[in-house]
Amino acid sequence: MNTTKRDAPMTAVTILSLPAFNDNYIWVLRSGMNVAVVDPGDATPVLAYLRESGATLSALLITHHHGDHIGGIDALIKAANAPVQVFGPARESIPGLTDPLQGGEHLSLPALALELEVLAVPGHTAGHLAYYGANLGTDGALFCGDTLFGAGCGRLFEGTAAQMQASLAKIAVLPAPTCVYCAHEYTQSNLGFALAVEPDNPITRQRAHTVAEQRARGLATVPLTLSEELATNPFLRWSSPEVIAAATVQLGHPPEDKVQTFAAIRRWKDGF
Ligand code: ZN
Ligand code: FE
Repeated sequence: MNTTKRDAPMTAVTILSLPAFNDNYIWVLRSGMNVAVVDPGDATPVLAYLRESGATLSALLITHHHGDHIGGIDALIKAANAPVQVFGPARESIPGLTDPLQGGEHLSLPALALELEVLAVPGHTAGHLAYYGANLGTDGALFCGDTLFGAGCGRLFEGTAAQMQASLAKIAVLPAPTCVYCAHEYTQSNLGFALAVEPDNPITRQRAHTVAEQRARGLATVPLTLSEELATNPFLRWSSPEVIAAATVQLGHPPEDKVQTFAAIRRWKDGF
């Protein structure tokens, strides 16, 4: 048994993943016998986890309104013996929403002794949120839904390239060691595109190699570390000369600014 626990938090929060659908991750935050769940697209794995662990569901943290992120909310609320707090974007239609958020809020979940900052990260959807816990784990944790992926980012369904670039820029300035818990296992295929953008980036090449091995062994590549994304994710690398050169080829002229660079790379990826 590990008895060398850090002395600061009495109720350390542990984070685990429940795979859902083809490639979704539902994240469970647990402290003692209380859990909060991020983006329960499917209730089934969450209900199985609650049954097996005997833990109580206290809160749901929703990033955006797509079905693979909200599909399990109703069944989880119905199955709970006590009221469940449902946090999510105020400007999107979220079933059971009790705590509408805009971004910029500070959340306290007393049942888990957990403090979170809410970030507005529009782009994939108009009201997309991310939840950041500076004291979660050793290096902080970000739950970002479909905004940032391993070596990729979400498609622009409702927002503009300028909005998404600004959202990703908000994430980019978090501490580099932050663990990023995104909602999909897309890293391997995204790295194929990242190498097309930056064929000479040695860190991207090494990562593609490592990730291919991980996936061949059935291992998850998420959580990501922000530092690795900053080094390899073309959607965070609008200042890299190689990414600007790739955007220039796509546009037929040099990009005017980082938004144009990001937009050109995002458009290229849409048809890749
Ligand atoms: Zn989505
Ligand atoms: Fe999704």
